[in-house]
Amino acid sequence: MSRSDPAIGFVSLGCPKALVDSERILTQLRVEGYRIVPSYAQADAVVVNTCGFIDSAVQESLDAIGEALHENGKVIVTGCLGKRSELIREAYPGVLAISGPQDYASVMQAVHRALPPRRNPLLDIIPDTGIKLTPKHYAYLKISEGCNHRCSFCIIPSMRGDLVSRPVDEVLIEAEKLVRSGVRELLVISQDTSAYGVDVKYAAREWRGRSYRTRMTELCDGLGELGAWVRLHYVYPYPHVDELMPLMAAGRLLPYLDIPFQHASTRILKLMKRPGNIDKTLERITRWRKVVPELTIRSTFIVGFPGETDAEFELLLDFLRAAQLDRVGAFAYSPVDGARANELPAPVPEELKEDRLEQFMAVQAGISAAKLRCRIGRRLRVLVDHVDADGVVARSTADAPEIDGVVRIRDGQHLRPGDFAEVIVEGADAHDLAARCAAGG
Ligand code: SF4
Repeated sequence: MSRSDPAIGFVSLGCPKALVDSERILTQLRVEGYRIVPSYAQADAVVVNTCGFIDSAVQESLDAIGEALHENGKVIVTGCLGKRSELIREAYPGVLAISGPQDYASVMQAVHRALPPRRNPLLDIIPDTGIKLTPKHYAYLKISEGCNHRCSFCIIPSMRGDLVSRPVDEVLIEAEKLVRSGVRELLVISQDTSAYGVDVKYAAREWRGRSYRTRMTELCDGLGELGAWVRLHYVYPYPHVDELMPLMAAGRLLPYLDIPFQHASTRILKLMKRPGNIDKTLERITRWRKVVPELTIRSTFIVGFPGETDAEFELLLDFLRAAQLDRVGAFAYSPVDGARANELPAPVPEELKEDRLEQFMAVQAGISAAKLRCRIGRRLRVLVDHVDADGVVARSTADAPEIDGVVRIRDGQHLRPGDFAEVIVEGADAHDLAARCAAGG
């Protein structure tokens, strides 16, 4: 690749799913001979991959487009906000092209129009795992696009369409390549991981001479063969989640579940049109923990959903106290343009929403801190993310990158990113652990 090859700047916003889209576009750009450059000044054009999920993300995306236009002038917009092209055109009529999520072809066409490629296959050697924006030792594995649910607060299905699952062999081959190229942790993502394969009637495919169905449990079984950490995100509480416990107990799958419960009141969940069944959730969590005592459960909740009464909010707090979840994120309900929940009666006043959010977070902070304190003195296996003069930052099986806490190791200067290490926990706060290297670790 030479300095005369056309150069693209890339701004990637949004969730891990958007990140995977960015990686695919970047890979294609490199394959076609474009240079990827880190500044507006070096770029001949800029691609902005946007997010449009909540109002603050919309604003962040619009600001990013504005900045790129100001600094560079040639801007191609893609991603979730691209579905609302009129909003973008109104604010920035000068953008070159706008496309929606996963529309790689339109992005590439727009790039070709702006900057015709100068292809030289001899010079471009792309690793067959593509280009990853995450550090080399972990990678997101997207198993499906879209979603069959219609949660009333969410506009993702209208932006990304119905569920389309990738065939299980395709996912397993990609995972295999990633692990071969040095990835130590695979983060499985989708909109609803439990629903994987429903759209293809769980079609069976062959991988390494064995038949696997396109279904969550079978996929995890295959991923468990690879010897990497495998972490599941966005799992809904369907009965077949029980099938994962033996895989976790056998060490083939990390003892970690990211389950967005969103609420604990059956009535509110009905108004939210949420998939899964909350009624037996507490019993099921107890059962799971019997099989997998180390299980970490992360979840997200919305407080102040339209119509939420004091009693329903109290019920949510009771659920929180009883469930003893490890990691929890919460949002005060905020209307998303185009979501059906906006039409629901009895919106909760802003002040009350904020008040409930504060109460909710205070209850959970106490639970999370107590759970982390219990780990003091224990030996943990961790994966190193980052090493600098201040020390080593790693994560245990209980910590997903970006969203959970970290383990800070005070004496691990010999370690490198991507190393596994054994540590002894010495301290804890509400989010993170402090540790030292274990003898022989
Ligand atoms: S499950 Fe609900 S919240 Fe999640 S993407 Fe589908 S519709 Fe949206």
